[in-house]
Amino acid sequence: MTQQFSFKLKATDGKARTGVISTPRGEVRTPAFMPVGTAATVKAMMPESVRATGADILLGNTYHLMLRPTAERIDRLGGLHKFMNWDRPILTDSGGFQVMSLAGLRKLTEKGVTFKSHIDGSKHELTPERSMEIQRLLGSDIVMCFDECPALPANRDRIAESMRLSMRWAERSRDAFGDRPGHALFGIMQGGLERDLREESAEALKKIGFEGYAVGGLAVGEGQEAMFDCLDYAPDFLPMDKPRYLMGVGKPDDIVGAVARGIDMMDCVLPSRSGRTGQVFTRYGVVNIKNARHADDPRPLDENCSCPACSNYSRAYLHHVFRANEMISGMLLTWHNLHFFQEIMQGMRDAIAEGSFEAWQAAFHAQRAQGDIEPL
Ligand SMILES: [Zn+2]
Repeated sequence: MTQQFSFKLKATDGKARTGVISTPRGEVRTPAFMPVGTAATVKAMMPESVRATGADILLGNTYHLMLRPTAERIDRLGGLHKFMNWDRPILTDSGGFQVMSLAGLRKLTEKGVTFKSHIDGSKHELTPERSMEIQRLLGSDIVMCFDECPALPANRDRIAESMRLSMRWAERSRDAFGDRPGHALFGIMQGGLERDLREESAEALKKIGFEGYAVGGLAVGEGQEAMFDCLDYAPDFLPMDKPRYLMGVGKPDDIVGAVARGIDMMDCVLPSRSGRTGQVFTRYGVVNIKNARHADDPRPLDENCSCPACSNYSRAYLHHVFRANEMISGMLLTWHNLHFFQEIMQGMRDAIAEGSFEAWQAAFHAQRAQGDIEPL
């Protein structure tokens, strides 16, 4: 197995790409969907079950882990992989986005951000240097630059100012990351929905040089149309030969649309969070398992799905355990959702490799438009 981090593009179809990221902890097939393991667990799932759904890589959250149980404690206990029993690649975010969305009493300066923990009100500081240190203590394979993501809506001046601060922080992140063979640092493009700012940001990042590049500041409430408009040009500013990661996306049709526009990696809490609220994603659209129509339905959620929820249980059972607040409900529905998302990724990888991605997309959209099977 390789001891270096590398990315190999295997095929393209239109703007869509398929390839392999190699790390000392294993390979990541792209396009890749990364389940989110916020607090060192993908909620309601054992790590071996997450792997069984087809996930090659997980995402961990710096903000949550630095507050509890702390990066220093995880380091003392052998690092995040050992701590959570996941020996394959892990990508960690920088903490920047979640400080902005979760923490209290934030103060932003050129140096970094000070804030109060949403858990116990304790005071903390995150800077590019501290974020790199935390992600190193966690043992993350793919480290993200510390950046600032302005709350939207924001005017152009604010977006430009924030983007330029993030580019200065990207340079400090690169310096603080140091020389760590086998580990990667990804830069994050900002610039909101402004084409010239996106280009300026990409140029600044390429000058610094990273092992991969993220498109940041999207999927923050701008809507799918605006996001796709930006993705129609933004990935083209990034190097062809490096992985491109769209942060925080998304619903199945967001994911497919992003891959069609040249994105290689994505992450989202949607499949796991929805699994716990009874929302199920299937090839025929969204099913709400709490609806009374499922109470007497002996059929599986999706007869073509090979996940445990669909292979071994009826809609009636899944409806019952959800209504009864049984833990197995979140477990089974999360498993199904993660399995379904990974199946989409596998379908896209195969279609891109065969040069049939357009036909695959047409079939995907046609099935979703069909809607759920008729009630009995
Ligand atoms: Zn299933």
